[in-house]
Amino acid sequence: MSYLKERILKDGVIFPNNVLKIDSFLNQQIDPKVMREIVQEIYAYYKDEKITKVLTIEASGIAPAIMVAAQFDVPMLFAKKAKAATLQKDQVYETKVYSYTKGTTSNVVVSKQYLNPQDRVLIIDDFLANGEAALGLIDLVDQAGAQVVGLGICVEKSFQKGRKRLDEAGVKVYSMARIAEINSDRQEIIFAQGH
Ligand code: 5GP
Repeated sequence: MSYLKERILKDGVIFPNNVLKIDSFLNQQIDPKVMREIVQEIYAYYKDEKITKVLTIEASGIAPAIMVAAQFDVPMLFAKKAKAATLQKDQVYETKVYSYTKGTTSNVVVSKQYLNPQDRVLIIDDFLANGEAALGLIDLVDQAGAQVVGLGICVEKSFQKGRKRLDEAGVKVYSMARIAEINSDRQEIIFAQGH
């Protein structure tokens, strides 16, 4: 079993609505050993894809994304959740992302100058649940006329609809840990096979 999965079983805390808290090693305090494993696996999977940029969304995608970008030796770009009042619409690609963990919709933007049609983009995020963040990031890359090579996800909750939506959209996904089921009564996490 991977070190990430071991830490999920040992330190993951189950919250209502199938939300998993992993603040002790990924979302607040960060375990470099988890980061090293993420880099190794995702780099091995995408190394021949001529990645030119790694894209994520603030805030919790930033740590794994910068580590992966360093390995590919390419820039890391993060989409920002922008306030409508400060938005310079002509200078950004913009999309909307609904967060079911927060129950809010954010305007998510990247500066046009940082994404261009030649880019081959690897998208990284900490969690894949319903796929809203991933599909929003894909939309930003599409607006730039760039290409999404694939996604690298730390923790996929496979029982939610994100993976299916991405598979149906023909987007390549590599997930480090796929969770088939979270049983809150028994405080149990069951992994799915594969990536
Ligand atoms: P999605 O957009 O796929 O529905 O959800 C992915 C985003 O929501 C991630 O960027 C992540 O920050 C957050 N998220 C979704 N599910 C969880 C969860 O179980 N735990 C944590 N900590 N974040 C989650």
